[in-house]
Amino acid sequence: MATVDVTCAGCKFDYWIFIATFHRKDDLCYQFLREHGVLPTAVECPECHTPCKLRSDRRVWYCGRYRKQPKKKRSKQCNFSVSDFKGTFLEGTHLPVWQLVLFFNHCLQKQWDHATVFKCLQWSPNTSVDWRSFCSEVTLDWLKNQQPIGGDGVIVEIDETYFVKRKNNKGRNLNSVWLFGGIESVTKNKFIVPLLGKQRDRSVATLIPFIKKYILPGSTIVSDGWKAYELLGNKGFTHWVVNHSEHFVDPSDARECRLIRTVADSDHG
Ligand SMILES: [Zn+2]
Ligand SMILES: [Zn+2]
Repeated sequence: MATVDVTCAGCKFDYWIFIATFHRKDDLCYQFLREHGVLPTAVECPECHTPCKLRSDRRVWYCGRYRKQPKKKRSKQCNFSVSDFKGTFLEGTHLPVWQLVLFFNHCLQKQWDHATVFKCLQWSPNTSVDWRSFCSEVTLDWLKNQQPIGGDGVIVEIDETYFVKRKNNKGRNLNSVWLFGGIESVTKNKFIVPLLGKQRDRSVATLIPFIKKYILPGSTIVSDGWKAYELLGNKGFTHWVVNHSEHFVDPSDARECRLIRTVADSDHG
C-alpha cells in the first residue's frame, strides 16, 4: 500500500554539519527521511486503489475521493487515512522528528552518551537509553535479514575492516571487531557481517560461507590480493584481484584496474 523510494544520490554530512542542517528543521527532516526510504513517498487507498494525499500539518495520508454509491444519487467521500509514520521505525512516537533525526546522528557517528544527548536534545537518560536500544534492535534486525547482492556480471567489491571503539571516545581500547562486507559498485547494495569468536581468523573457511550466502553466483568479485579469495573461481564467481596500490575508483574503470589474476567461472558448487 505504501511506496518507499530512495532518491538520495549520496549525502556527505559530517557530525557537525548534520546538526547545523537539521536542528529544529522538521520539514527538512521529513524530506530527508523520505529521500532515504524511512517514510513513504506514496500511499494508495486500499478501497479506491488511487493515490492518497499527504496532509503535512497532521502527518497523515488521506484519500478523500468521492465514489458513486449503488442505487443512490449522492456520491460518498472515502474517509480512509493513515499516519505518515504507520509501519515505520517512527510509529508511535510523539517526539519532534528533528530530535529523532539528530539522535540517530549521535548514534551513527559514535557520539552517543547521556551528556551529549542531554546537552543537544534535553532528553532524559531514560529516553535516550530507550532509543539507543531501539536503534540497536533495528541494526540487529537489519543484519539478520540481509539479502544477497550481485548476480550475473554484477561487480561486487569485498573487503574487511577492523573497528575499534573507545568508551566515550577516550581512554583505552575497549571493544574491537572485524567486519567483512561487500558492496555492488553501481547500486551500492551491500552486506556486512561481524566476524566473531573463531571467525576473527578471517580464514578461507570463515569467509567463503559468507560469500556464498551473501553474493549471488555469476558475480564478479573484486578484492585486494589477500590469498583467501584466490579460491573463489571454483565457487561460481569470477574473481578479480585488485592491487590496492592501483586505486580502484569507479566501476566503469574497473577493467582498467590492474588485474593481477582473473579466474574464470568453473563449477557452480
Ligand atoms: Zn543521503
Ligand atoms: Zn479511498
